[in-house]
Amino acid sequence: MIEKRDIRALTKEELRAFFVSSGDKPFRGNQVYEWLWSKAAHSFDDMTNISKETRAMLEENFVINHIKVDQMQRSMDGTIKNAIKLHDNLVVESVLIPTDTRTTACVSSQVGCSLDCNFCATARLKRMRNLNPDEIYDQVVAIDQQSRLYHNHKLSNIVFMGMGEPLLNYNNVLKAIDMITSDEGLGMSAKRITLSTVGIPKMIKRMADEEVKFNLAVSLHSAIDVVRTRMMPINEKSNLDELLDALQYWYLKTKRRITFEYVVWKDINDQQKDANALVDYCKKVPCKVNLIEYNAIDDGEFQQASPEAIAMYVKALESNNIVVNIRRSRGKDIDAACGQLANKTT
Ligand code: SAH
Repeated sequence: MIEKRDIRALTKEELRAFFVSSGDKPFRGNQVYEWLWSKAAHSFDDMTNISKETRAMLEENFVINHIKVDQMQRSMDGTIKNAIKLHDNLVVESVLIPTDTRTTACVSSQVGCSLDCNFCATARLKRMRNLNPDEIYDQVVAIDQQSRLYHNHKLSNIVFMGMGEPLLNYNNVLKAIDMITSDEGLGMSAKRITLSTVGIPKMIKRMADEEVKFNLAVSLHSAIDVVRTRMMPINEKSNLDELLDALQYWYLKTKRRITFEYVVWKDINDQQKDANALVDYCKKVPCKVNLIEYNAIDDGEFQQASPEAIAMYVKALESNNIVVNIRRSRGKDIDAACGQLANKTT
């Protein structure tokens, strides 16, 4: 038996060509493309303005590898965590985070993760595969639907802060963002999308060269190499200087400031010298800092720093005119917060 092709791996042009080669009009390709993306059809039978014969022909040749929301958990604070089953039965997670005025989708880019950040639950899962553009897109569609259903408005923001490292699945993540922002897809503004990365200099420069329109966040956690390497082994391959060089390049090209994500841990990076190093780093590139609350994952090696240490950071940053926000974690009761995504259901 010939394996059926994933129809959403085809570009619009390829789909149009397919219809021409089967004796139909190119326009049929446009119609089907619209069903597949902006209308997010789950099956060929949903395509009601396409003839029965054509739908049967599509069914014979292609599959729609639609994701399935396998389990949905709602947190006391309104956060929703979805366990998403992929066509090959692997599972990723995505999260809807509501605030008073907006809803944010936190989406995954890989099944598992190949990086070994030792404070992150996803790092305990090995990387199994990259997500395809349509699998990333579908997570956003599913959360948009949940936003409309539970919060009475459409999805407002997207962050690539779920499972995986988006810059190690570069092409598929960028293709997904293209469809999310395209009028042929969801038509969302790129300004409302943030890609979060451990910081891979080569890929940051490549993104800058491609003049992408979305925002960049970098998980920094320390501006001192030995400390950062201890938590994030990737820092050994490309250190803080190389990262800074790429970030300066990014700013030069895009004129958009970077967000640094930063957790302050007890006895690890909670001293004045740590805050001073962060201030020095921040002075070298336009940025703001989000201090994120630590979500304990298990063995107690990492503990949230004291409120005094956080206050010390805030003071150091603010007195140097660096914007700093304290980010409370959301959805902790259902393991939906940053770094807690590990395909664990309770
Ligand atoms: N690989 C990307 C995106 C996934 S992680 C990246 O590293 O940016 C999303 C954010 O959650 C990152 O800033 C990460 O550092 C942070 N994070 C990971 N584990 C955490 C934990 N246990 N508590 C709080 N934040 C965590």
